[in-house]
Amino acid sequence: MSALPLPPSLSDAPPLSFRNRFQTLGDRFYTALPAQGVPDPHWVITSDACAIELGLPADWFQRDDWHALQVFSGNAVWPGMQPLASVYSGHQFGVWAGQLGDGRALWLGEVDGPNGPQEIQLKGSGLTPYSRMGDGRAVLRSSIREFLCSEAMQALGVPTTRSLCVTESPLPVRRESIETAAVCTRVAPSFIRFGHFEHFTHTAQDVDALRTLADFVIDAYYPQCRDASQPYVALLEAVARRTAELMAHWQSVGFCHGVMNTDNMSILGLTIDYGPFGFLDAFDPGHICNHSDHQGRYAYARQPDVAFWNLHALAQGLMPLIDDSDAALEALEPYKAVFADSMEAKMRAKLGLATRQDGDAALIDGLLKRMAQDRIDFTIAFRRLSQFSTADGHENAAVRDLFLDREAFDAWVAQYRDRLRAENSIDDARAVAMNAANPKYILRNHLAQEAIHQAQQGDFSETRRLLKVLERPFDEQPEHAAYADFPPDWAQHIEVSCSS
Ligand code: AMP
Ligand code: MG
Repeated sequence: MSALPLPPSLSDAPPLSFRNRFQTLGDRFYTALPAQGVPDPHWVITSDACAIELGLPADWFQRDDWHALQVFSGNAVWPGMQPLASVYSGHQFGVWAGQLGDGRALWLGEVDGPNGPQEIQLKGSGLTPYSRMGDGRAVLRSSIREFLCSEAMQALGVPTTRSLCVTESPLPVRRESIETAAVCTRVAPSFIRFGHFEHFTHTAQDVDALRTLADFVIDAYYPQCRDASQPYVALLEAVARRTAELMAHWQSVGFCHGVMNTDNMSILGLTIDYGPFGFLDAFDPGHICNHSDHQGRYAYARQPDVAFWNLHALAQGLMPLIDDSDAALEALEPYKAVFADSMEAKMRAKLGLATRQDGDAALIDGLLKRMAQDRIDFTIAFRRLSQFSTADGHENAAVRDLFLDREAFDAWVAQYRDRLRAENSIDDARAVAMNAANPKYILRNHLAQEAIHQAQQGDFSETRRLLKVLERPFDEQPEHAAYADFPPDWAQHIEVSCSS
């Protein structure tokens, strides 16, 4: 790597000041190296909302800053940026995969944003010592998908890494066919993964580094654990709780990650590494969004169990510090109840139930079973249910018409109506509350596909329009109603692979 020319450091006053705490951990944790930029970059899309997260003015990108374009394409750095690729390991599809690491991601630095510290990372900025067989690049297709989905998830209220921008270059990149290179800039308080901990225990076998990492994570992100009698056990429990919350978020919006390997699990409980993800169209608990996942290990309904499995892998990674397997297992135990409670609360909100009553779980389950049986569109069903009327004789045709088995649906409706009446639920007020819990707009695969298709012809207007729609997922937006329609038939045949 040393033969590479260092990119110029831009001498202009940087728009951000960097403090770089991760970098102070030392070179057991990363390799410092410059980005391999891309020739002739141009903007694809930018997120003003994410710029604000960094403490930049909302109109910062509108200034069309040439320097920013070069920095976010890996061609230059601002003073204070100290690029590095971090090392981690992980379990992939349930099997120990050994050392992985940032094979095409490059950490640029950390800034103090209005909501706390944020790290900035390039994805697709060239080879690193951890690239293994890869080329260090990302293509336009996958970068647009990652960008749109992370911003959409943020707007849905799901914890996630953010995307600041995507740039594209004419540089050709070989995947199944020749595509073009893109660089996606991601933002998160931390990009540390379960796999970072596994690395120091199983690969590097460096307990001192493991302790340094755990102490760093506690001090920077989980300071409340410092006061616990066993801080590392407390850390494990705190991560388990956040991960449980994340799974409830995913399940409640019908999000499938696709590659829940331990190297793709955030220590902060954020959705990270958007690859072959997908949102449910027709409700199918067994839905597999990654067509390379032949066993369905990461099918929609399995995600909460997989996350729990991954937490056990994290516990193994922390064992040299905890040294008490009973304590570690105990720390993971709250996962089940936190997930169940959070899931039930989210489903109650989706059904517009203001109080908690016995029998709610059965009511929720009854609806989901009927939806699965008739393969009802997950998002459309809940959005239409928001208009439900408890009035006698009201057919509620908008939602009823979705079901093939109307009798089964009517039987469920009778229970639902009684349940709503029992808490004196008022239709109009409930509709407002339910619309805030049941998104109208999600990033369906076919919407992303259409935007990507146009972007590949050099027209980014659809990608940008889609961002604007997805930034307000709960609003009616009548001018964009078509984005909330059922997916077209061809959407069923979209195959999203790991290749990105
Ligand atoms: P993913 O499945 O995308 O989470 O990636 C798994 C591992 O492969 C990570 O260590 C990535 O950095 C690495 N990787 C994926 N694609 C590439 C690529 N094109 N070049 C280099 N490394 C890659
Ligand atoms: Mg990954």
